[in-house]
Amino acid sequence: TGTLMQGKRGLVMGVANDRSIAWGIARAVAAQGAEVAFTYQGEALEKRVKPLAESIGSSLVLPCDVGDDASMDAAFDAVAKAWGRIDFLVHAIGYADKQFLRGRYLDTPRSAFLQAMDISCFSFVAVGQRAAALMSTGGSLLTLSYLGAERVTPHYNVMGVAKAALEASVRYMATDLGERGIRVNAISAGPIKTLAASGIGDFRYILRWNQYNAPLRRNVTIEDVGGSGLYLLSDLSSGVTGEVHHVDSGYHVVGMKNPDAPDI
Ligand code: NAD
Repeated sequence: TGTLMQGKRGLVMGVANDRSIAWGIARAVAAQGAEVAFTYQGEALEKRVKPLAESIGSSLVLPCDVGDDASMDAAFDAVAKAWGRIDFLVHAIGYADKQFLRGRYLDTPRSAFLQAMDISCFSFVAVGQRAAALMSTGGSLLTLSYLGAERVTPHYNVMGVAKAALEASVRYMATDLGERGIRVNAISAGPIKTLAASGIGDFRYILRWNQYNAPLRRNVTIEDVGGSGLYLLSDLSSGVTGEVHHVDSGYHVVGMKNPDAPDI
């Protein structure tokens, strides 16, 4: 514990359970004194998110479906009413129909393409608009991406294209909000076994591949991502914006399979 986030308040969107990347980040900032509000998608998740929030002293826990403007407005109105202003926002939300997270990208239908873009990319713009309106003295917006945005990774397909658009959004939003002292960054996380990841074909193989071939020879944890999230949400990163920061045991620098890796 420490005081890096003392006096800061923020909203964490995308906790589904205690394996969620958003939860790793929330815990890291709370341990440094941040006050955290949470949003969850749909009633089924409320009973999972509420106890997690309470365990770090948070009582502001709100429903929010980022596919619905009225739902986003209601959540941000509630935050505005409770706190008036915020200092940070974590967007750890993504969705694509898992039917299309296997097979060929080329076979993606329009509806699945638009839904993945809407929930995984536009939603960061939509919550960024609303969060920035509450950041009267600067702030930090953070989203989550994956290497599949930059290069082809197995089965990531339409999600990779949505993440590429998300990373481009980070750069445009950073430019739009920079003069107000609001920073916008992404963490490109290595594979982690979460609810969302379970929809990706051959995910166990992907985990193994990264473990054997990443420079650190291990997979990252939500604690690893939490630590880097803390840096990007705190004043430690006051000169950093528009950045896509890899938290992936170094996997993104590797150009060839590790010759000593065991067969998978
Ligand atoms: P997760 O399943 O714990 O979190 C995904 C969250 O998205 C859930 O809380 C879900 O409720 C939320 N969500 C989906 N549709 C929504 C909607 N319409 N409205 C509101 N919320 C919605 O999985 P995670 O792996 O922690 O995912 C968090 C982020 O990290 C995602 O953007 C994901 O793409 C990204 N990411 C994950 C990995 C990985 O390997 N797990 C790697 C890199 C990036």
